[in-house]
Amino acid sequence: MLGPVPGVRTALPGPRSRQLLDRQAARESNARSYPRRLPIAIKRGQGAFLQDEDDNVFIDFLNAAGALALGHGHAELVAAVQRQVAELTQALDFPTAAKDEFTTKLLGILPEGMRSRARVHFCGPTGANAVEAAVKLCKTATGRGEIVAFQGGFHGMTHAAMALSGESAIRASVPNVMPGVTFFPFAYCHRCPLGLRRDSCSTNCADYLERALHDTHSGMTRPAAVLLEIVQGEGGTVVAPVDFVRRVREVTTRLDIPLVVDEVQTGFGRTGRWFAFEHYGIEPDVVVLSKMMSGIGMPVAAVVYDERLDVWRPGSHTGTFRGNQVAFAAGSTFIDVMCRDEILANVRLRGQQLADRLDLLRREHEGFISDVRCLGLLVGVELGRPDGGPWPEAAALVRREALRRGLILETGGRHDGVVRMLPPLNLDETTADTAMDIFAQAVAAAGTALRSGPGQAP
Ligand code: PMP
Repeated sequence: MLGPVPGVRTALPGPRSRQLLDRQAARESNARSYPRRLPIAIKRGQGAFLQDEDDNVFIDFLNAAGALALGHGHAELVAAVQRQVAELTQALDFPTAAKDEFTTKLLGILPEGMRSRARVHFCGPTGANAVEAAVKLCKTATGRGEIVAFQGGFHGMTHAAMALSGESAIRASVPNVMPGVTFFPFAYCHRCPLGLRRDSCSTNCADYLERALHDTHSGMTRPAAVLLEIVQGEGGTVVAPVDFVRRVREVTTRLDIPLVVDEVQTGFGRTGRWFAFEHYGIEPDVVVLSKMMSGIGMPVAAVVYDERLDVWRPGSHTGTFRGNQVAFAAGSTFIDVMCRDEILANVRLRGQQLADRLDLLRREHEGFISDVRCLGLLVGVELGRPDGGPWPEAAALVRREALRRGLILETGGRHDGVVRMLPPLNLDETTADTAMDIFAQAVAAAGTALRSGPGQAP
């Protein structure tokens, strides 16, 4: 049994981790990423805890990039996986009892208005594949070729998904990405893309999009889709204002442009509702799903869309691994456990607990912590330089200081200046408090170290 308190006994990486990290560095691609920032080799996980190869124990707020909805090794999900593995593992897109049950449960958690008109397409098992499917679907259904995406959005690393994502450095390294994508400003009000002030703005990002879509000389043709990540996760946990999302929905409805909402990171309860769009009182035409869908990290992805878009010909988006029965079986149990244990309520409660603690910390470190953004258990803490700009070195230092004390965190956002937290949805009060204690120590230690550094007083 791991936990209930983390314990780091070695310098990091410990000797056994060091050995595996070195072997990995010698044999795997230079594109490997997480172990560069979090230098550990992982042995096992249980609940919200992770043990490395040197038997150091961490609270895991990275959580397989937010994929493990109920943490590591949830007993009921493990049992569902074991039962299904023995029965049937892959079945292309043939109907099976496991898929049928999961489809019923998936449709059951959609808002009532969408349920009866929804079509489900299970894709290749990644978020990026589902994004590709959504874009292909909308292009096919509308006969149009352009896509509107938003600055700061992230939709995956395949060729088209990357072309739809905002991170410029990665796009720049791959010449000739998919053409026909127009980026519009996303309402990131902490660092307004239009240089406006939050108190005097009336969601001008949506205004700008509306005007461009109506402008006969905007240089665009009517797009096949508007692709929106309502809470930008990798973009730094940027929660869109209600007015922005509603206006994007209004204009897309008015102009008959399918609105695709990427819920890969937010779907299945991360924000305290089953889907982030529910906070906004809108209904998208297409929803992109993956990550937490099985509850325990079994790969699976889907697009759920309005039946009027269902003009695909048979075989329009095939792929070998579209029938992961183990993921379906785990996913059905996951949705059952979510309902039975009222886990959405827990997400809201624990989210508030983290938000309260982080807000206190922000006041204590006014400026250094420049913004705290939480929606349920999707949490971002932005660090600011003394001049107000983003501070990636500070975020990296906080992440390192937290790891040394037994808390695994990720960074992201513009310039990598945001510390991100993606705990399991069934996080308990004590673990949440312990994590916040460690985080407070890490912020204090990073602040002190940076203050004593050359000319960088926080
Ligand atoms: N969309 C969003 C919003 C994501 O957060 C991610 C992954 N972080 C993806 C798409 C891509 O998913 P995958 O890594 O499974 O391809």
